[in-house]
Amino acid sequence: METRKRHARKEDYRMRTHLIHGNFESKKWDYNHHVIPPVSHSTAFRLSSLHRGAQGFVQFASADEALSGHIPIYIYDRLDEPTRGMLEENLASAEGGEICVTFASGMAAISAALGVALRQGQEVMAHQILYGCTYSLMTNWLPRFGMQARFGDFAKPEALRAQVTPATRVLYFETPLNPTMELIDIAAIRQLTDKINVNRDERERVLVVVDNTFATPYCQRPLKLGADIVVESLTKDIGGFGTDGGGAVIAAADWYNRLMLFRKDFGGVLAPRSAWAILVYGLPTLPARMVNQQKTALRVAKFLGEHPKVAGVNYPGTENFPQKALAHRQMVDLDGKFAPGSMLYFVLKGTDGKQTRAEKLVDYVAERAYTITLAVSLGQIKTLIEHPFSMTHSALPDEQKRAFGMHPEGIRLSIGLEDWRDIIRDLELALEKV
Ligand SMILES: *Cc1c(COP(=O)(O)O)cnc(C)c1O
Repeated sequence: METRKRHARKEDYRMRTHLIHGNFESKKWDYNHHVIPPVSHSTAFRLSSLHRGAQGFVQFASADEALSGHIPIYIYDRLDEPTRGMLEENLASAEGGEICVTFASGMAAISAALGVALRQGQEVMAHQILYGCTYSLMTNWLPRFGMQARFGDFAKPEALRAQVTPATRVLYFETPLNPTMELIDIAAIRQLTDKINVNRDERERVLVVVDNTFATPYCQRPLKLGADIVVESLTKDIGGFGTDGGGAVIAAADWYNRLMLFRKDFGGVLAPRSAWAILVYGLPTLPARMVNQQKTALRVAKFLGEHPKVAGVNYPGTENFPQKALAHRQMVDLDGKFAPGSMLYFVLKGTDGKQTRAEKLVDYVAERAYTITLAVSLGQIKTLIEHPFSMTHSALPDEQKRAFGMHPEGIRLSIGLEDWRDIIRDLELALEKV
C-alpha cells in the first residue's frame, strides 16, 4: 500500500481533519486513488480459491486473527463488508475507542451491546429515564433470555450502589437525558463502578454502558470519561441529514469478535449504501453542523429564557443550567471547548384552557412555521419540534412523567441549520398566538 508523504504524522492532525479525510489507507479497502471513498454493493464476494474461502471463515471473528494486521477476506455481506468497515474505523476514532461495530439501527446496536455483555441470570441496572424502545427492550425482551432489568436514579451514585446486586453486570444510561436535558455524571458512575468491581473477577465485572446519541462524539466522548461501551444511533446527528438509519457500538478491541458474531447471527447489519452516506456526508460534517447548531441552540435558549410565556429552559449551555459545572466538565468538543449540543427542552407557563399552551404552540408551529417541523427523531439539519408528554413519552404513566421532570407544558426542540433569526422569529410568532 502506497503511503503519501505528509508534512506531519497522521496522529498530529486534529480530529476535525480526520473526520473529513477518514482513513483512506484503511485495510478494509485501499482507495488511495479515490477522492471520495468508493461504495461497495455486493451481498457475496468472489473467492479466488477454496483456500481463500476457508481462510475467510477461519478469520471471521477469530480471536487469533482479531483486528490486527490482516486484510479482511470478505465472504458475505452479513458477516463483513468494506464500506461499513471504513465507517466503523472512523467512528471508533471519533469516539476514542479501539473498535466499532455498526448495526441497522440504534436499537440493533443497543440490543447487541446488552446481548454480548449479559448472560442468563445477570441483570442490567439502568437509569429510570430511558429512550422508550430501550426501556421496552429491557423490560419486554431481555427477560425472555433470562436477563433482568432494574431501574434506579443514576443522579445519586451512592444510593445506586446499594441497589447493585451480585447479578448486576451492566450500568446503563443516557446523558443528556431525553427530553429534560438533565445530565448524568459519567466519571462519577465510573468511580462507583470501580468500587463495586474491587472484589469481582473479570467475568462478573460491572460494565458502564452509555448511550451517546444526544451529545454525539463531537460534544462528549464517554469512553474517555470511563465508560466501557458506547452505543449510539447514527440516525440522529451523526447521519445528520435524516436520510439513513443506523447504530454503532464502540468499545475496547476485545469486544469486537463477540459483537461481530452477535451481528452475524441476529442479522441487524447496516446496509452498505447507508454506511456510505454516513461515511461520506454525515460523520465528516458533524463538527461543522454541531458548531452552528450549538450557536443557534444557545441563542434560542436565551430568547426562550427571557420570554414572558416561558417558565423555564433546559439547555446545558445557559448560565443558569442547574448542572453547569458538570456540563462544562463532561460536554467538551474535540478541542476541549465546552460543547452543550443542539437539543433543548423548554416549559411554557400554563393557561386555564382545556388544551395546554404547549399543544397549541406545537400545532401552530406545525401549520405555520417554515423553519420548524413537527416530527420525532432529532439531529437533522432541519429544526424539529415535538411534545414529549403526549408523543415520545406518552407510554409512561402521567405521575411517572411528572416525577421525572416531564411536564405537559414541555416542548423538545432539536436545532437545525436554518438561519437562527428565522427560527427565533417563528418561535416568537407562535408564542404570540398561544
Ligand atoms: C433514536 C434513539 C435511539 C434509537 O435509535 P434508532 O436509530 O432509532 O434505532 C436510542 N437512543 C436514543 C437516545 C435515541 O435518541
